[in-house]
Amino acid sequence: MLDEQLRILVSGACGRMGQFVVEAVTEAPDMELVGAVDPAGQGHPLTEFVPTGPEDITVSGHLVAALEESQPQIMVDFTTPAVVMDNIEAALNAGVACVVGTTGLSATDLRVVQKMCNSKQVPCLIAPNFSIGANLMMKFAAEAAGMFDYAEIIERHHEGKVDAPSGTALTTAEKMAAARDKPLREVPTSHDKLPGSRGGVNQRIHIHSVRMPGYVANQEVVLGGTGETLKIEHVSTSRQCFMPGVLLAIRQVLELEGLVYGLEEIL
Ligand code: NAP
Repeated sequence: MLDEQLRILVSGACGRMGQFVVEAVTEAPDMELVGAVDPAGQGHPLTEFVPTGPEDITVSGHLVAALEESQPQIMVDFTTPAVVMDNIEAALNAGVACVVGTTGLSATDLRVVQKMCNSKQVPCLIAPNFSIGANLMMKFAAEAAGMFDYAEIIERHHEGKVDAPSGTALTTAEKMAAARDKPLREVPTSHDKLPGSRGGVNQRIHIHSVRMPGYVANQEVVLGGTGETLKIEHVSTSRQCFMPGVLLAIRQVLELEGLVYGLEEIL
């Protein structure tokens, strides 16, 4: 055990992502998992959900009490859009830095978090995608967007994902638009036989969301030019792909100031 291990609490510890975070933090020699919060597992030993997790942790259903009891330095949150803002507020109020992977936060939410971080002088890193490959995919898509006038995004996720489109798809569209000196060209249709057939639109980019078993998190960016298309695709085959990014964020967050948005800011 290292002298100065980072003390980590995982919020959403019994969820699909949370279980991987528990495993990754438990295995990291420079980290100590001190708390786990999730109403889904309240009162149960954490090892019922993650057999390789620490044996002495009981899952708590109440974040404020767990923060008080376990005294973490960092909260990692992979919960739901409905609760994430309350969780961030509770952690920042307790002086605990945040690493947040939960998606579905709006631009207004981000402004609120930024204000809270500044007033509490506690850092928070929010990343809609912790996968290194997905971040490279966004970077390449932004680069290509400078040279193609037409683009659409198809994102594919597992059937349990509650928000659509994915935070990654929205961020990709924003980065692509920002990389251009004029807007992308949208192709509107005048007779959609089914409402929503052309997907949702952000920055003139149509985004199509597929939800079904068999997928973890995939995204394809299709760019159209005269007589050619370019496809940039990222495929996650396991949620483990997010863990190197999560651990990197945990190791760096205490050095950050205010709100930092996006893994690329620390890569
Ligand atoms: P999930 O399996 O539904 O897990 C969410 C967990 O949070 C559930 O166990 C849920 O319990 C629990 N929860 C609900 N309210 C809570 C609260 N107040 N405090 C603590 N825990 C609470 O979802 P997931 O697939 O792990 O995804 C979680 C989030 O991460 C989603 O927003 C997803 O889009 C996002 N995500 C981000 C990345 C990234 O790289 N940034 C990658 C993958 C997924 P109940 O079941 O009882 O509600």
